[in-house]
Amino acid sequence: RLISAAPTSVREEAYERALRPRQLDEYVGQQKVRGQLEIFVQAARKRAEALDHVLLFGPPGLGKTTLAHIIAREMGVNLRQTSGPVLERAGDLAALLTNLEANDVLFIDEIHRLSPVVEEILYPALEDYQIDIMIGEGPGARSVKLDLQPFTLVGATTRAGMLTNPLRDRFGIVARLEFYTATELTKIVQRSANLLGAEIGPEGAFEIAKRSRGTPRIANRLLRRVRDYAEVKADGRITPAIADAALEMLDVDPVGFDVMDRKLLEAILEKFDGGPVGLDNLAAAIGEERDTIEDVIEPYLIQQGYVQRTPRGRIATLLAYRHFGIASPDSAPV
Ligand code: ADP
Repeated sequence: RLISAAPTSVREEAYERALRPRQLDEYVGQQKVRGQLEIFVQAARKRAEALDHVLLFGPPGLGKTTLAHIIAREMGVNLRQTSGPVLERAGDLAALLTNLEANDVLFIDEIHRLSPVVEEILYPALEDYQIDIMIGEGPGARSVKLDLQPFTLVGATTRAGMLTNPLRDRFGIVARLEFYTATELTKIVQRSANLLGAEIGPEGAFEIAKRSRGTPRIANRLLRRVRDYAEVKADGRITPAIADAALEMLDVDPVGFDVMDRKLLEAILEKFDGGPVGLDNLAAAIGEERDTIEDVIEPYLIQQGYVQRTPRGRIATLLAYRHFGIASPDSAPV
């Protein structure tokens, strides 16, 4: 699976960790976010205060976790990591919060999946560095206020729209991560190849970059497979021709669409006559979860202009018809 939301195995997780940039100046692209963070981090450090809470949103694999680690490192503090679905009870979060040291970073991935009771605990923690916990049960139960050390919450989510308003309002810094350009991904591939000791030139790196769906995780994933191919089928050097042959073998087409992208596009074009088709019907037709379509597959297709999202459903554009060499009706949007 090339475009899954997260690392698909322990080995892949280790691979990702090894390739993760550690400092802001190693972090490629995302100029706007980087520029903002540089200033806010320096200011917070000067005042010896915790950085404002940061919300990072954007599709999987664009560097949210990486950025959270970089923020902690640049602030010179520890990072504690958890995720929305893992924090089941209020006590889970309370335990984490009370163990933070001054100005530490708490990273909560998939923050839109926090349960309402856990979210309640978070509000006063974010605002006043305090939590209310219940002690005892039944009629004797009472609420106790605990003071926390100042800290920074870094929350990550695929869609900012899925957060409740009160939670979103408590973030001082809100940053949207964008898909990367082929030039930026070329840099990332070259840097990763360097760390892996793989031989690659700028053209070979570009071939992988432009077929990586604008996503560093996918670029690194493809690099690893292409390197295997180059070692087995050639002398190990990743030339554009080797990269092309390996990517073709992996079913990654010339514009970087993989099997799932093509399945989705073909369903809209052929089963639903170009759309509009609702998300549920589309999900049933290709045997995928709604969330996977919305969070993982569709954002890139929309950004690249192959699919449009309308109030009545998804529509294939002229570009989509052309991609598959299918004659387009006059109604297809450009
Ligand atoms: P997310 O948390 O958004 O799903 P990650 O931070 O886990 O994404 O990034 C996935 C992989 O992509 C990591 O291995 C990381 O090294 C790489 N990566 C992400 N963003 C960048 C970047 N701006 N520069 C270099 N590598 C990056």
